[in-house]
Amino acid sequence: MKTVYNFCSGPATLPQEVLDAVQVGLRSYKGTGMSVMELGHRSKWFDEILQEAVILVRELLSVPDDYSVFFMHGGASIHFALLPLNFSLLKKALYIDTGIWSSKAIQEAEILTSVEVIASGKDFNYQRIPPIHFIESNRYEADYIHLTSNNTIYGTQFTEFPDTGDLPLVVDMTSDIFSRQINVGQFGMIYAGAQKNFGIAGLSLCIVRRDLLERISGNIPKVLSYKLAAENNSRYHTPNTWAIYVAGEFLKWIKKEGGVQEMERRSKLRAKLIYDTIDNLDLFANSVESTSRSMMNIPFTTGDDWLDNEFVEEAEKEGLMQLAGHRTLKGIRASMYNGMPIEGAQRLQEFLSEFAVRNGK
Ligand code: PMP
Repeated sequence: MKTVYNFCSGPATLPQEVLDAVQVGLRSYKGTGMSVMELGHRSKWFDEILQEAVILVRELLSVPDDYSVFFMHGGASIHFALLPLNFSLLKKALYIDTGIWSSKAIQEAEILTSVEVIASGKDFNYQRIPPIHFIESNRYEADYIHLTSNNTIYGTQFTEFPDTGDLPLVVDMTSDIFSRQINVGQFGMIYAGAQKNFGIAGLSLCIVRRDLLERISGNIPKVLSYKLAAENNSRYHTPNTWAIYVAGEFLKWIKKEGGVQEMERRSKLRAKLIYDTIDNLDLFANSVESTSRSMMNIPFTTGDDWLDNEFVEEAEKEGLMQLAGHRTLKGIRASMYNGMPIEGAQRLQEFLSEFAVRNGK
């Protein structure tokens, strides 16, 4: 079989070594004769799988001791609703709007709390991260402030995070967690769906400062409580055991490859290869402001829908898969998360040049 590189925005490509490892666990976990999918979620075998995954998250991100790390069902969208449900003492939350995913988070929050959007990229068609000045926490009476670190659809990314003082900063890191070094101590809560940078769909990771968990009311449905999820070590009810296992194998792979520092080096390298090529070829354009460009998702276009489709179809014949843009923006989008080898970006780079020559530019 020829080598295929998968540029899907998510669920996304998994490292070959991770696929090989989980194939073994699918049949028999460590020689027990039982598939990981057949292990009780409170069994000693699953205890080990869960504990290993949590320890790896702590290690890879240097999570301080006063933070809880736990997994929950569902993707990131569930947290759009859980955040205002869990953290609504003052009944007010601040949001930064950087595109479709943050807008969805805002819409869900508005059902349960009062939302103030303190910065928005809307006036720039979301082609840049809006300027955010120091947020004077005492000017705002709010439960938390929310932002999306990487905007999967528009291809923009925060390079640094605002200083929010006493206001807990809650971040949706679904599309860039483990791909860049971060200082967890800067955040009140980090959440991320697993299916892009460290696993498969149906699982989300939460890293929450413990004092915030203490503020959570006992008067919300138990199955939706962050406090109970943390207190019960991700097992208030049956977790997605298979997805936690795959995440654990992925995190082991990240550690073995050199950790988040190495993932960041690779992310920068892959992104540079593609941005430089697009910028040098007249046929293609990426309209994101240079300082806001994402290392993970690169949307671009020839400016002609027909030619964009040709590009996607021809690329697929060459083993460069799932390069179609998001259904709202159309065009082409290359998503390159932790599982994407540098060779994948190099292959795409070559194909971009070949396609431009074939099409006269
Ligand atoms: N946030 C961001 C930044 C995303 O990219 C996505 C999915 N692409 C989501 C939230 C929603 O994730 P899910 O569909 O797993 O709920």
